[in-house]
Amino acid sequence: MTVIRGATTIAEDTPEEIRAAVKELLEQIESRNALKRDEVVSIVFSSTSDIHSFYPAKAAREAGFESCSLFSAQEPDIDGGLRLCIRAMLFIEKNDTPHHVYLHGARALRKDVAQKFNVAIDGPAGSGKSTIARMLARDYHILYLDTGAMYRACALAALRAGVDIADEKQVCDLMRGVSLNVVYRDGEQHTMLGGEDVSDLIRTPEVSMAASAISKHISVRMKMVEKQREIAGKMSCVLDGRDIGTFVLPDADFKFFLTATPEVRAKRRADEMTAKGYTVDFEALKREIAERDRQDSTREIAPLKQADDAVLIDTSEMSVEEVLRTIKSKMQEKI
Ligand code: C5P
Repeated sequence: MTVIRGATTIAEDTPEEIRAAVKELLEQIESRNALKRDEVVSIVFSSTSDIHSFYPAKAAREAGFESCSLFSAQEPDIDGGLRLCIRAMLFIEKNDTPHHVYLHGARALRKDVAQKFNVAIDGPAGSGKSTIARMLARDYHILYLDTGAMYRACALAALRAGVDIADEKQVCDLMRGVSLNVVYRDGEQHTMLGGEDVSDLIRTPEVSMAASAISKHISVRMKMVEKQREIAGKMSCVLDGRDIGTFVLPDADFKFFLTATPEVRAKRRADEMTAKGYTVDFEALKREIAERDRQDSTREIAPLKQADDAVLIDTSEMSVEEVLRTIKSKMQEKI
């Protein structure tokens, strides 16, 4: 049995605020802990005495927690305590390290677990960003957001629909009707187009090139950036991409820019693709990467660029472990 704690605050004692706050808190707890609904045995809520208008337990039921037992209790007044605060204790039918979640004003309750921070890792294709970002997120028990996957999913939708990717209006009209989401299962990001998991389908060279072409359209970019900022605003995460430190999160707590020689980058991509069972034409891959670098760094909006305050790491001659160690020690210096 694992016990996961969480807390959040609301602005006003209204049923709507309570419903929304409980839903957000439980969803965050689920995603941070890769929980399945039927693993939740029971949830005990307690709220401060200034909350009367609705029971958090009822809100949880309405949010889809149907099979677990739910309790709501009221806390006694504490001088100087938080106001309008809802706490939750989830009893889970598995043994795992719990990731407690403290949102909004409740962050003040547990600075140790609630100190939210974002790590921006930018760089060109094959510089090692995604490998490092994934490991870093795993080590710090925070979320990894692969922003490239989002542009790739847009590109896949456009390729499937047969629209002209260079034509912003066509792409924009298409994207209005497409629902693109990232969800997390067992800590792994899954990129969803409509209800379909396209995480593997977006890894082909054709989609890579189309992603680079589509990402220069401002309307596509702003839609993706809005989602990225929303996720990063709610919780600690490592984001990798091209423009995280310069555009998406210019105030990110930690910023890194990874690079490597074109030869090394192409070799890494080739190895990655061979391992996935693709036949790789190395020279063609090198050309594709060079062309993507060119497109990504010369586009008008949010081009691939090192932020002035990002730490530059040339990973050409470094092992994954060395890069990870370097990044962690740079982060430690700043903390
Ligand atoms: O990182 P990945 O190779 O998956 O990215 C695919 C493409 O998506 C990149 O070539 C780039 O054009 C675009 N992209 C972007 N901004 C990001 C992440 C990716 O423009 N933050």
